[in-house]
Amino acid sequence: QPVIGVLALQGDVREHLVALAECDVLARPVRRAEELAEVHGLVLPGGESTTMSRLLATFELLDPLRARLAEGMPAYGSCAGMILLANKVLDGRPDQHQLGALNVVVRRNAFGRQVDSFEADLDFTGIEGDPVHAVFIRAPWVESADTGVEVLATVPDTPAAGEAAGRIVAVRQGPVLATAFHPELTGDGRVHRLFVQTVRAA
Ligand code: GLN
Repeated sequence: QPVIGVLALQGDVREHLVALAECDVLARPVRRAEELAEVHGLVLPGGESTTMSRLLATFELLDPLRARLAEGMPAYGSCAGMILLANKVLDGRPDQHQLGALNVVVRRNAFGRQVDSFEADLDFTGIEGDPVHAVFIRAPWVESADTGVEVLATVPDTPAAGEAAGRIVAVRQGPVLATAFHPELTGDGRVHRLFVQTVRAA
């Protein structure tokens, strides 16, 4: 059974552990470099990216995490996790650390300029059946995606979406997956299962 860690410095760690446990993997919280070394893949949860960034430095996890990502460890970031994985953040704090595992520019609190939270049904490349019901909470979006990045979902053009219509909200680059929304909050395990497939294949 693959061992999948959830970065457990801050954020909705428990919800991801529950979602992963339903995918027939061993799910564990990760707070220390020794714990990071034992996982086959890592989830970076939603929460507050600036706080998680600061705690990654405090817990001396920045370099070990960057090293594992550079070696090709599968990772999945939701919301704040997506921000951390990106190469570059707009509207972030100037001292916010980036893991640089996704060749994208993300805009932090992008939806928050209109509304704090927003929900939409998304067509999601790689997920069959019903659309994925996505909950966005002070969410980022992907402002631009560069070479090697596959766009998996964009905000549908509905009246509620307003200027968010067409924005990129799910991407993958090799073994790294990211969503601007929170599948761990809706009880739909399909995004986690997609990630688990990636871990099994790696
Ligand atoms: N706004 C948060 C940030 O900047 C992300 C919100 C979330 O993860 N739900 O990190």
